[in-house]
Amino acid sequence: ENVEPRDVWRILKASGVKFVKFTVMDINGRPRAELMPIDPALDVFRDGMPFDGSSIPSYTTVNKSDFVAVPDNHAVYVERWNDGKIADVFMNVIDDSGKPIMRDPRNVLLSAIYELQRSGFRALMGVEVEFFIVNNSSGSPALVDDGMYFEGRNTHVLLDVAAELTAAMSESGIGETKIHHEVAPSQYEVNIPADSPIKVADNIIIYKIMARDIAKRHGYVATFMPKPFWGINGSGAHTHISIWDLDGRNLFESKNSEATPEAQSAIAGLLAAAKSISAVVAPTVNSYKRLVPHHEAPTRIAWGYGNRSAMIRIPFYGRRVNRFEYRHPDPSMNPYLAFAAELNAVMKGLSSKASPPPPVEDIAYELNAEETPRTLGEAVGELRKSPIASIDYMRDIIAAYADIKEKEWNDYESIYKWDDTWSKITEWEYTHYLSTA
Ligand code: GLN
Ligand code: MG
Ligand code: MG
Ligand code: MG
Repeated sequence: ENVEPRDVWRILKASGVKFVKFTVMDINGRPRAELMPIDPALDVFRDGMPFDGSSIPSYTTVNKSDFVAVPDNHAVYVERWNDGKIADVFMNVIDDSGKPIMRDPRNVLLSAIYELQRSGFRALMGVEVEFFIVNNSSGSPALVDDGMYFEGRNTHVLLDVAAELTAAMSESGIGETKIHHEVAPSQYEVNIPADSPIKVADNIIIYKIMARDIAKRHGYVATFMPKPFWGINGSGAHTHISIWDLDGRNLFESKNSEATPEAQSAIAGLLAAAKSISAVVAPTVNSYKRLVPHHEAPTRIAWGYGNRSAMIRIPFYGRRVNRFEYRHPDPSMNPYLAFAAELNAVMKGLSSKASPPPPVEDIAYELNAEETPRTLGEAVGELRKSPIASIDYMRDIIAAYADIKEKEWNDYESIYKWDDTWSKITEWEYTHYLSTA
C-alpha cells in the first residue's frame, strides 16, 4: 500500500525505462504530459512537477496559475507496446498547502470514492470500450473490414491490430482481457476488467493511448468518437456497476433472478440523474447522433432485464444477477468526471432507498418514458441546473465544464444547424473528434 516514490522510480529504472511521461488529466479527460529522462525524473517523484495551469482548460479560470502535480504511485504504466522505454505516471494536482485541487478530475473522482466509502460502500466498475479502426489516409475516414458481431474469420485487422492490442493490455497492467468484433464493420470492443473506479478510469486513458499507437503502426486510426458513421451502430462505453459493503459483500448479488433492493435503489438514483449527467457521460456534439433509436444505444430513461434498448440493463446470463449495466456513456467521456457523477447518483439512490419505475420488457425506443437530451446544448442546460452542479467537490469543475461544452456546442451551431445535420456526420466532427475524442 505505502509505496515510497523513490521505490517506484528505482523499479522503473531497473526495468529499463528511459523516460517518464508525467501526466495531468484535463477537464475533457485528455492527458497532458511532460516527458523527462529517467534520472532527473527522480526529483519529480520526490517533489512533484510544477506546471502552468493557465494553458490547460479548467485550471485557467482560477486566478493563480502555478500548480504542482504529484505522482500517484498506484497509477504507473510502462508503455510495453512502445518497446518499454517510456513510463506513464498519472499525477494529482495540489495547491500551496498540499491540498488536492478540485479542478483536477482525478481528485474529483477520488473524492467521490471517499464519500462513498464514508457511507459504508465500495464500488466496482467495469467498462466495455467500443471503437472503430479506420483508414483516414484520404482525409475522410473509411471502413477497413466488413466484419460483423463476433466475426470469426481471420481478417487482417483481427489478426494484426486486435491481437496486438490484447497482448499490450495485459503486458501494461490493464489485465488479461478479451476483444471482439462489434456489430458495425470495422468496429471492435475491449473489456476493461472490473476494478476500483479510479483504476478503471486510468486504464481507459492508457488503453486509448495504446490503441491509437498500435492502430497507427498499421496505418490506421483508432477512433473513439461515438458516431463516426451515420446509419450503422455507434460506439458506447457501457459501464457495469456493483456496490459492495466494507466487509466485501456484493449488495447487488441476488439469490434469485431479480435485482436486489439495493440494486434497485441505485438504479433509481442513476435514472433520476440521467438527464443531468448526460453532458458528462455523452460529452460531445457527436454523442447525440449515437443516442438514436435502433442502434442498441439508449434513447429512453428506462431499465430492464436483458433489454439492450433500455438505458440500464441487468445482465441476465444464467439467471445470475450481480451488477447492472449503464449504457448511456460513450468512449469520448472524461471517465473521471463520468464515474464521479455516476457514483454520486447511485449513492443518492441508495441512501434515500429510492425505488425505480417498473422494469421494461418491450423495445424501449417507442416507450412512453422520458427521453435523453437531444443535443449537447440541451444536455448542458440540464447539467447546469442539476444537483451535481452544487456538490462541494464538483461545483467548480462542473461550472467550468459546462462553459467549455456550451462553447463546443455553439461552435458547431455557428457552422451547421442541428435540424439539418442530426443525421449526417460533418467535417467539423471529424476535425474535432476523430483522433482526439
Ligand atoms: N454499439 C452499441 C452502443 O452504442 C452497443 C452494442 C452492443 O454492445 N450490443 O451502445
Ligand atoms: Mg460487450
Ligand atoms: Mg458492445
Ligand atoms: Mg454492453
